[in-house]
Amino acid sequence: MDCLFCKIVEGTIPSSQVFENERIVAFRDIAPAAPIHILIIPKKHIPTMNDVADEDGPLIAELFAVARQIAKEQGIDESGYRLVNNVNRDGGQVVYHLHLHLLGGSKLSSLSG
Ligand code: AMP
Repeated sequence: MDCLFCKIVEGTIPSSQVFENERIVAFRDIAPAAPIHILIIPKKHIPTMNDVADEDGPLIAELFAVARQIAKEQGIDESGYRLVNNVNRDGGQVVYHLHLHLLGGSKLSSLSG
């Protein structure tokens, strides 16, 4: 399968990894949009949030739990952070393998203008 993040999961494309277990990998974004910018992905290839099945519920919950743990390890749990999931063209999705962006380390711009 020609998926960039599957190749990162397999290790055929290198990444700056910060977390791994049997189901999830997290690594630093190659083009950080904040001082801390980490991508948290399931090892299972799920293209977008639209493709999440009911049976994936525990996996999605674990994705958020890992994000929370990494935020704590990075020392930004109290200062704050943002979790982003882009979906399809209008959402700005570029890599079609489900991922959460964990952004923090500075005051992020408001979404409400
Ligand atoms: P999205 O626009 O939500 O699909 O986000 C894809 C993200 O993957 C972007 O923030 C890219 O900077 C990031 N990215 C692309 N290639 C790599 C890579 N090889 N290693 C780490 N991050 C990457």
